[in-house]
Amino acid sequence: MLSSQPEFQNLLLLHGRDRRIYKLKKELELIPLDQNRVREQIGKEKLSIEIAINDWRELETKNNSLESEIISISDQVNRLKRQQLEVKKNEEYSALENEINSSLKNQSQIEDEQLDVLMRIDDARNTAEIAENKITLKIEELEKKLLSMKQRSEEVQKDVKTLESEIEDARKQVEPQFLSHYDRTKTVISKPPYMAPVEDQRCSGCNLRVSNDVVSSILVERKITQCDQCGRIVYAER
Ligand SMILES: [Zn+2]
Repeated sequence: MLSSQPEFQNLLLLHGRDRRIYKLKKELELIPLDQNRVREQIGKEKLSIEIAINDWRELETKNNSLESEIISISDQVNRLKRQQLEVKKNEEYSALENEINSSLKNQSQIEDEQLDVLMRIDDARNTAEIAENKITLKIEELEKKLLSMKQRSEEVQKDVKTLESEIEDARKQVEPQFLSHYDRTKTVISKPPYMAPVEDQRCSGCNLRVSNDVVSSILVERKITQCDQCGRIVYAER
């Protein structure tokens, strides 16, 4: 049986390494995509802090402008009151009185508005502080995640390098005829495994039943046999 020959064992060793390097390279392809997703999430979290802080700042600005409006109205009222002291005619006095009253009314409306803004400032400040604390922790976690992805990527790149030289060594140990057969199979099958044991007359690569010819070839002949369904190199494990 071919599969018990050392030559074939060498091919299996090569196959094992090819499978491992395939998996590692796939992982390497995915890491940058995952990293981008995490970076995007960090951006979103940072944006939501900014929005909360901006809401709060806008209210503070609004409060300041209301405050200066109130001050200017009360300055105006004081001015009108001084004018009132100086006028001689009754009509002029009551005209000023009307003006003062309407200014005071206006002032009281603005004060109500300011009170409402002040309450909203309290809420907005709380929201911004909570957002900042919670989200900062979240961002720290995400950044840790990014770091470990970077470390993993470096680790995998190192493993790939090691495996590449191990594969080179393994290829030297495989008989040239087997190797060319194996390489041809690799071009047909898009991803590993390129070799599969047959169990109960089933190819474990494609899970389909192989013909009796394939089975007898595996058991008797001394050449490489392929699954008549998927084209993988098939062998008996024992
Ligand atoms: Zn198959």
